[in-house]
Amino acid sequence: MENIAPTASAGPFTLGRENLFVGGRLSLDFINTRCERRGVVLEFLTDPDALHRWLIWAEEISGQNLLTTEEIWPEEYGKAVLARTIELRIALRDLALSVVNLLPAPEEAIATVNEALQARPAYRQIAATPTGFEEITITVRSGDQWLTKIAEDAVDLLCHSDPGLLRQCDCPTCVRVFYDNTKNHKRRWCTQKCGSAPKAATYYRRMMAKRKAE
Ligand SMILES: [Zn+2]
Repeated sequence: MENIAPTASAGPFTLGRENLFVGGRLSLDFINTRCERRGVVLEFLTDPDALHRWLIWAEEISGQNLLTTEEIWPEEYGKAVLARTIELRIALRDLALSVVNLLPAPEEAIATVNEALQARPAYRQIAATPTGFEEITITVRSGDQWLTKIAEDAVDLLCHSDPGLLRQCDCPTCVRVFYDNTKNHKRRWCTQKCGSAPKAATYYRRMMAKRKAE
């Protein structure tokens, strides 16, 4: 699989804003920036510009402040951070799949996520108020705070959410992961497209069986 040159499209199927955010969580959408469609590896983060674009979309969709509005994206920064971005994505995918497959979490993945979390240290301050005191947490902003926020979302997901609702798409040729936020917790597919192909096949088989029986 790895020897196939990753691309952002497989025939008429292209990874875009409309189908990149199906994970229900920032960290899962981030993992899904590399996925597969019918055996073809689809990579959205092919270059620093694509990463920047994804972050802008992720900000709009998640409502989270990932980049500062005035933040510029120097070419050198983008190039330098892309490798670390991919490293974090591999670690988060390994962790997510360990949950899905009920396997022990890989230590290396934990270490990579912890490293990303350290990039945004916070310290406490105290302030006097008219009625007493107030504790304020100051976050030291770093250029990589968006990487940390993605890692923090994964911490929230893995530590404080229901692991049983973290799933991988049921479509055998799809590798996307999602968090099932639906009321009845019966979500099986990452997108309608993934769900409709097997459904259509089942329907066809049923129709044929019915015709034979008649
Ligand atoms: Zn799918």
